[in-house]
Amino acid sequence: KKVLIVGGVAGGASAAARLRRLDETTDIIMFEKGEFISFANCGLPYFIGETIQERSKLLVTSPEMMKNRFNIDVRVFSEVIKVDAVNKKVTINSPKEGQYEETFDNLILSPGAKPFIPNISGIDSKKIYSLRNVPDTDRIKKAVDQQNTGTAIIVGGGYIGVEMAESLIQRGIEVTLLENAPHILSPFDSDMVAHAEKEMQEQGVQLMLNQRVEAFQDDEDKITAYMKDGNKLTADIVIMAIGVVPDTAFLQNSNIKLGQNGHIIVDDSMQTSVESIYAVGDAVEVKHFVHQQNTAIPLAGPANKQGRIVADQICGIPTKYKGTQGTSIIKIFDITGACTGLNERNLNQVNIPYKVVHVHPLSHAGYYPGAKTISLKLIFKEDGKILGAQAFGVEGVDKRIDVIATAMRLGGTINDLTELELSYAPPYSSAKDPVNMAGYVAE
Ligand code: FAD
Repeated sequence: KKVLIVGGVAGGASAAARLRRLDETTDIIMFEKGEFISFANCGLPYFIGETIQERSKLLVTSPEMMKNRFNIDVRVFSEVIKVDAVNKKVTINSPKEGQYEETFDNLILSPGAKPFIPNISGIDSKKIYSLRNVPDTDRIKKAVDQQNTGTAIIVGGGYIGVEMAESLIQRGIEVTLLENAPHILSPFDSDMVAHAEKEMQEQGVQLMLNQRVEAFQDDEDKITAYMKDGNKLTADIVIMAIGVVPDTAFLQNSNIKLGQNGHIIVDDSMQTSVESIYAVGDAVEVKHFVHQQNTAIPLAGPANKQGRIVADQICGIPTKYKGTQGTSIIKIFDITGACTGLNERNLNQVNIPYKVVHVHPLSHAGYYPGAKTISLKLIFKEDGKILGAQAFGVEGVDKRIDVIATAMRLGGTINDLTELELSYAPPYSSAKDPVNMAGYVAE
């Protein structure tokens, strides 16, 4: 049996490793168009900010290790440019080998998503950067390392934009973040995200909301962003971080069904519209765990889980993907924001009625030094079923959202939150944990 994998990072590499563990004999070939496989995408902003100091730490594994440890044939600088689903073969383009074909019994697609770059005037300036992979990171780091880089514009207040703002501030750069929406961090509701915006401003980020960039102009050593409302802003570099689009152009005309934004359509076995072909990760449209409608949520956890499921499926183990819940977390300087499930905006869009409670408990017992307030928002149905939660605070935010995310996975209600027996000693929590408290208030 021969399995080909397109994309060698989160989804692709986890599918490959699981496949090998399940089956020692399958031929596995993994194609990666870039130089690196299995790199730590999520660590890239922290390397630019120098919290992670060694570049080698970003490279989790290498083609040689995949060969030696798992007997997987990894081919880097190898771009799959065409999939022939009928004749079960792909065409690869590589600078070394030129164009060639490879046949398959099963194909796993994990090409991921790439930064969305709007088609506006001046966008091809060399002073404009985006961040997806190690070469992008090297380019940004090089610019930041230069003495004369003192100011940056970040376009987009999503997770990557916010992480980059912190990293650049840490490097002594003056940062202005432009956001088109009335608030940054769209996974959170506007009442909650105020915590993040306040922290960013206090740490020196100039936040400009409701600002749509319409054009750039590159002058000799500066770049100017022109906004729709007539504002303009000049800096040394620009980071574009306004979201991602699936990297699936090579699948046009392949018979593999794509959604309207180019995501690969899969079923709960992660199988595409073609029987022998599976797809995972940022490139696919999946069901949302909470309302079961189609969604695309680009996160590393789901990509890894889906990779495992595909390997199971190919080996005859009927594991199913039950949907993405959107559990995510972000460090914003000294505070943490985390969320899971649907927010009010999402729920209003699909007309699902809901109730909300806000609680502001301490992260641990008040009489033990260092306790900090957590702002926790719980969203649930009339019958008590939990639909989502969001939290901001200095400590203990991750644990509370993860507990609620777990309860949601298991179909939990607000009543279940009151019953959870969670670990407690004064340095860590209170006898009534913030999660219990949210349940009590919601009841
Ligand atoms: P990717 O990891 O993007 O891998 C796809 C690979 O396929 C790429 O290397 C690409 O070069 C290759 N490829 C594409 N097309 C072809 C082709 N035709 N032929 C050959 N190779 C091809 N998620 C979190 O959950 N938490 C975080 O903190 C977090 N931080 C992030 C920070 C940054 C800066 C970035 C960029 C992403 C972050 N993510 C985070 C998102 C996470 O990295 C992705 O959800 C995850 O990597 C998706 O895995 P994937 O396999 O679908 O795609």
